Amino acid sequence: MKDIEKILEVHKLRKKREQLICSVESGESKKRLDMALKVIADGKHSAERLDLEAIELRKRFINVKAAIENVEKMKDSDDKKEMNEGFFKLNRLGSQLEDIEKKIIEKAAAFTDLKRALVKADADNKHFKPIYHREAAAIKDEKGRLDLSIKQLMEKIEDRDLVRRYEEISDLAMVSGETNKEFCQACGSSMPLALMEIVKSRGWTTCETCGRIVYANPN
Ligand SMILES: [Zn+2]
Repeated sequence: MKDIEKILEVHKLRKKREQLICSVESGESKKRLDMALKVIADGKHSAERLDLEAIELRKRFINVKAAIENVEKMKDSDDKKEMNEGFFKLNRLGSQLEDIEKKIIEKAAAFTDLKRALVKADADNKHFKPIYHREAAAIKDEKGRLDLSIKQLMEKIEDRDLVRRYEEISDLAMVSGETNKEFCQACGSSMPLALMEIVKSRGWTTCETCGRIVYANPN
């Protein structure tokens, strides 16, 4: 096996490794688990916020209630002006109180929704976490085998320039086209004759435009 063929094989194994990891890390159970964890984390903040808002509303409720009690006396006054003012203020405070009550009901409903979402997220977390861990454990062996094969292949490559270049760029492209009209299949740049000579003798070179390792079609 030529050095460039070994690198091609390494590249293939690395892709396989990536796909393997991706199948778990982008899989359904990981997605559902992350979603549940986000709801739980966000839910904590939302609950704290709702709590503070509820405290604030209760304070306002008590204040308005106290103000109403004060004004109640005014409307029984013998002074007509003061009585009218009393009614006017009572009216205004009454609608303020209604507004606060409405908001308290809204917050209570939001809290119920939040609790429901948290219960569901908690159940999802319990359900999907072990599935995700099982899936991650299941690919561990194959991942280990791939890592070992990659390592062994890399060690067998005599052309250390090729290894260094691959470690830098981690990408390869085939040269294609007719003789004297060859181009890099990745970026489309034409390959100068001098570089094609290197490809023929050493098996690979670097594309002057995109920097990828370029090689000739092995077939
Ligand atoms: Zn290129």
